[in-house]
This record gives sequence, C-alpha cells and structure tokens, in this order.
Amino acid sequence: MKELLSPRDIVTSGLCIGCGSCVAQANLPDTQMDFDAYGQLKPQGPNAWYNRESGSFTRTCPFSPGSRNEDYLGATLFPTAPHVDNALGRFQAAYVGHVSEEDFRMQGSSGGMVTWVATELMRQGLIDGVAHVIATEDPQEDGRYFRYRIARTEAEIREGAKSRYYPIELSEVLSLIREVPGRYAVVGIPCFIKAVQLLRKENPMYRERIQYTLGLFCGHMKSARFVESFAWQMNVPVDQIEQVEYRQKDPSRPANWYNAKLTLRDGNSVNRDWWHLADGDWGAGFYMNSACNYCDDVVAETSDISFGDAWVEPYSSDGRGTNVVVVRSPLVDQLVTNAIQAGRLQLEPVDARFVEQTQAAGFRQRREGLAYRLTWPRSGVQPRKRVIPDDKTPTAQRKLIYRMRYYLSKGSHQMFRVARNLQMPQLYIDWARMTLAAYHGFAYHQGNYEEIKNRYNQLKGE
Ligand SMILES: Cc1cc2nc3c(=O)[nH]c(=O)nc-3n(C[C@H](O)[C@H](O)[C@H](O)COP(=O)(O)OP(=O)(O)OC[C@H]3O[C@@H](n4cnc5c(N)ncnc54)[C@H](O)[C@@H]3O)c2cc1C
Ligand code: SF4
Ligand code: SF4
Repeated sequence: MKELLSPRDIVTSGLCIGCGSCVAQANLPDTQMDFDAYGQLKPQGPNAWYNRESGSFTRTCPFSPGSRNEDYLGATLFPTAPHVDNALGRFQAAYVGHVSEEDFRMQGSSGGMVTWVATELMRQGLIDGVAHVIATEDPQEDGRYFRYRIARTEAEIREGAKSRYYPIELSEVLSLIREVPGRYAVVGIPCFIKAVQLLRKENPMYRERIQYTLGLFCGHMKSARFVESFAWQMNVPVDQIEQVEYRQKDPSRPANWYNAKLTLRDGNSVNRDWWHLADGDWGAGFYMNSACNYCDDVVAETSDISFGDAWVEPYSSDGRGTNVVVVRSPLVDQLVTNAIQAGRLQLEPVDARFVEQTQAAGFRQRREGLAYRLTWPRSGVQPRKRVIPDDKTPTAQRKLIYRMRYYLSKGSHQMFRVARNLQMPQLYIDWARMTLAAYHGFAYHQGNYEEIKNRYNQLKGE
C-alpha cells in the first residue's frame, strides 16, 4: 500500500466520511465540500490539490490508515484516566440521567446534556465559542438544511439543541477558528472528533484554540436523500421544505418511537413515525455513508465527554429523554460533579457494561460486523482498524444480516438516485418497502415468508 495518500485516494476507496478537515487545511478559494450524486458531502477542488499525496493529509484524515488510531489518541489525551475499556476507551466516569435545570431536557433530543455542557463551559468563562450544528435559515436558497456554525452566546448555543441525521462538515468552522483567535469547543460525531484531535496534534494553533471536544455516540451518517425520502413518503414537495425535525419530542410516548416532522414554506407541517417509513429502521442502514462500514468508534473515544441515548429500559420508554454520558477529561468531570451536587443535573453513576448495553446494536455492527467485513476483498486503500478480521466467530444468521445491511445501504443510494433522476418516487419507495420487509424477516424471524409479507403490507399502510 502507498505510504502517502491524497483526498482522491480516500474518496475513491469509499472511505471519505466528509468531515471537511482536508478542505479546511487546504485553505484555497476553489476547494470546498460539496454534495456528490448520492447527497453525501465530499471534498472538491482542483486536481493539483485533490490528487496530491501528502504527509499532513495522510496523518490527519480520520480514515487514513496512516493516521493515529483512537487508542493512541486516547492515551495521549487522557493519560490519567482510571478506566481503560475495550468498548468505551479511556474514561473518568460514566453516568445515566438528564439535565434537571431549566428546559434543556425538553429542548434536547435526549436528556439535554450536550447543550448543557456547552452552555456551562461558556457560563464558567472557559470558552468563547462552540462549533455545533444548526438549521439553516433558508434551506432552499442555501442548498443545505443544516450546517456547522460557531455559537458565541448562551442563546446561540441553545439554538443548536437536537440531533440532525444529515451530512454536515467542519471546513467552514475550522477556517473561522483559524481566522479568529479564541478558545473553542467542538461538538461532533466520533469520526469528526477524531479528525479534530488529529488536526490538533498536527497544528499547534488548533491545539491551543480548540480546548474542549463534546462527542456524540454514533450509529451511522445518513445522506441528504433521507429528507427527500421523508417528503416523498409524506406527499409534500421537496422544494417547499423549510424545516426538518428528525425526532419530535413527545413525553407521552416512548423515547425510541421516533417521529419526523417537516415544516413547509406556507407554515403547514406533516409528520410520520419512522416505523411507518419504508427506510425508517435505523438498524437497516438506509443511506449510510460507506465509510461507516469501516468505523470502530461508537462512543467518541477521543472526546473530553461524550453523550448518547440510554437505549435500555426503563429509560427507552421515557419520552422525556435520557442520556448516557462518558466523561474523560478530569476538568469536565469536575463541572459535571459540581452540578450533580447542586441538583442541576440528575445523573447516576454507571459502569462500562451498562453504557455498552445501551448501544448493543452499534457495538455488534462495529466489532463483530466490522471484523467480518474486513475479511471481504476490497480495492483501493485498505482501512487499518483496531478490530482483527474474523469470519469464524459470527453465526451464519449474523453474517447474513451484515451482508444484507451492507447491500441494502449501498442499494438505497443507487435506487434513490435512479428514482430521483427519473422523477419516479414510487420506484424507490416500493423497492425500499420490499427490501426492509425482507431484512426484517431475516433479521428477526428466520426468513419466515408470512412475517415478510405482513411487514410489507404494514409498510404499505394495509
Ligand atoms: C448522526 C448521528 C448519529 C447518532 N447515533 C447515535 C446512536 O447510535 N446511539 C446513541 O445513543 N446516540 C446517537 N446519537 C446521539 C443522539 O442522537 C443525541 O445527540 C445524544 O444523545 C445527545 O442528546 P442531547 O439531548 O444531550 O443533545 P442536545 O442537547 O439535543 O444537543 C445536540 C447537540 O448536537 C449537535 N448536533 C446535532 N446534529 C449534529 C451532527 N450531525 N453532527 C454534530 N453535531 C450535531 C447540536 O448542534 C447540539 O449541540 C447520534 C447523533 C447523530 C448526530
Ligand atoms: S474523511 Fe475528511 S479529511 Fe478525509 S478525505 Fe474525506 S473530507 Fe477529507
Ligand atoms: S458510524 Fe463512525 S464513521 Fe460513520 S458517521 Fe458515525 S462515527 Fe463517523
């Protein structure tokens, strides 16, 4: 394998997650992150840059086999952490619970902890800005529904609450951090936080300015087509969507019954439960970025503190939302401990196995599933992971599920593209319903034909 890599090598090998770090580092006017034909953000720029192999790119792209892995970064960042765990990485303490002060919990996707920690860092005078993700003001004009931006006030931080399962990238905020000196926190999914840590390692300016990293646990990255598919299935025109909410909060329903809502330019809105959408089963992997097939960090192991949903009972049935939290930085742990004592946070200590259990499906896909996928022949750059290739451990049933998920996610990109080009939404919707019904039949009912038929009819609304 080549020692030095270019952005092109990573993109053409299906390993680009679209973080935007390479574009920020290029710092060239004609180099940017843009959507590809599948609605995924990819680096774009002149060939002289795109094809250029370099040491700095090879060291800082989070999917480059020449970059440092999460174990190395964790050991350097959190050398005194009392716990070192195979699933969670290094950590100081872990908790389950939610924010009890003000309305952070109601405004958040889960227990409101991400927005609370970001706000608390600012209230304590520890940062000047937070790089987080917000809805764009006019998505039809902007071309994207969500973007990273830097919040500089408490009110701005709070505008960012809620999870957006939509492609976003860091190039613009990393450029701003370069241009405007200050102390920043960055919120991001695990691979983005890894990209930030690699950049901090490479460049002292980023090391000094990015003082805190807040990680989100992650299942996978969706493409922008997920929103278009919502519109197709809810029978509203894509070009009239003004706001997208992936998870409306409803305290009277279980937290894991996701309901998506689209608000239109004329003020009307439509909504639907994910369960009734042809591509609404998160675990099936519709629109998943291909790089996610080669990810082994579920819980943002290189962040100062990371947050997920407590997907175990009794928490998953509590529609108000409950976080699991893994704290790695002693300073952030102090902030959290003080707030627990003051009654501002309602958090109970838990162990690593509890947190792992809340993400059981994510760990199966990125431990056993990844080990299996690593045995498949592939062309281009070979990912270097912490998981050893293994096709002996998974049962035949598990192998079938990993295979189905892989081809289903690949197929969803391709089928949507064809249906979109032909302007025939039903072509995609019928395919997705059949594929999801078959996936359910094999994943949960040993391929029982009646079960597949029932699920298909259910998805058709019959
Ligand atoms: C793509 C994706 C996949 C996820 N997968 C899982 C999973 O498998 N299991 C799990 O337990 N949790 C997952 N999460 C995290 C979960 O959805 C919640 O974000 C988390 O529990 C924090 O909730 P909260 O109420 O504390 O956050 P909130 O207070 O609602 O704050 C959310 C923060 O995240 C920022 N944000 C929103 N979208 C993005 C984004 N795409 N990238 C970076 N920052 C963003 C917001 O700006 C805000 O600062 C995922 C999140 C994302 C974005
Ligand atoms: S993963 Fe990030 S750094 Fe690597 S090629 Fe893609 S956008 Fe660039
Ligand atoms: S699954 Fe891994 S690679 Fe994919 S978006 Fe999440 S953290 Fe990034």
